[in-house]
Amino acid sequence: MDEFELIQNYFNWPLNDSTVELGVGDDAAIINLDPGYQLVTTTDTLSEGVHFFKDDSPENIAYKSLAVNLSDIAAMGAIAKYFTLSITLPKLDEIWLKKFSESLKQTSIKYNVSLIGGDTTRGPLNITINMMGVVEKSKAIKRSGARNGDNIYVSGEIGDAALCLKKINEGEKPGKAEMEKLNRPLPQLDLGSSLNGVASSCIDISDGLEQDLSHIIKASKVGAIIDVQKLPLSQSVTNYIQGNNDWSVPLCGGDDYELCFTAPKIFNPEIINIAKICKIRITKIGVIIDSKNLKIKGYDGQGESYQHF
Ligand code: ADP
Ligand code: MG
Repeated sequence: MDEFELIQNYFNWPLNDSTVELGVGDDAAIINLDPGYQLVTTTDTLSEGVHFFKDDSPENIAYKSLAVNLSDIAAMGAIAKYFTLSITLPKLDEIWLKKFSESLKQTSIKYNVSLIGGDTTRGPLNITINMMGVVEKSKAIKRSGARNGDNIYVSGEIGDAALCLKKINEGEKPGKAEMEKLNRPLPQLDLGSSLNGVASSCIDISDGLEQDLSHIIKASKVGAIIDVQKLPLSQSVTNYIQGNNDWSVPLCGGDDYELCFTAPKIFNPEIINIAKICKIRITKIGVIIDSKNLKIKGYDGQGESYQHF
């Protein structure tokens, strides 16, 4: 099997999107964008040993590569549409490729996104996805829109992925449900697009709430005050904190891919309604203030968020 057969066999399937004029197979893809919409695009790379373990399943690697990119589109309040896949493979392992490809395909169908191209090379396992979405002109939710007095919210529960990773690193074997939190984060696409026109700023929590909320306040030139007692936590994270008094797990642990967003106070009823419609938990954790720093009530600031370098 040569490179072109590989692409044909594993990365080219029929698409169900009439806006894709040309997908995999030519020098580049062609998309017909609806007038009045903007293209929103993002890239995330997953590398072996950094973003996943050597023995992680190809199904989980494919899922997570898509999920983290979808999460960025969600955080912009956009609708995910197309993606390209640049994959570096150590060897031509058809069993691995088949599983990876099937999981990628099923996940792309679930989230209604089309694989329109990519690149295939040889080397240490590395997956880069470029995700593209669309949003009505000027409606994307940026990090820079938070204003003094806005409420700060978080979706779902935070800290579970970090707690799972901590257990693995300490030699414990997490349960199946715990592993799901780490390997199968749910991109909050419905929430993201519902927040369009409601949220003043938004970010997905990939590196830890403390760090990601700091990006919002920096971009918005405001401050924030949040309270650890208000953080939405699962029973296992609650138990962990009761035993260790270690708030760094929900504050600095990444990988949950929940959304942290701000909205003017008057939108609070609307947000409660969005939570109902999207069937998710949305928790108010604090407010935006005039100062330029992040104050965390109940936390002495010992933990460290994820740093790539
Ligand atoms: P070129 O040499 O012109 O860059 P390639 O041989 O790299 O073309 O790719 C041929 C076609 O296959 C292109 O349409 C490209 O987008 C697509 N492609 C290559 N690798 C992948 C991949 N991993 N997933 C999806 N499409 C791919
Ligand atoms: Mg190429």
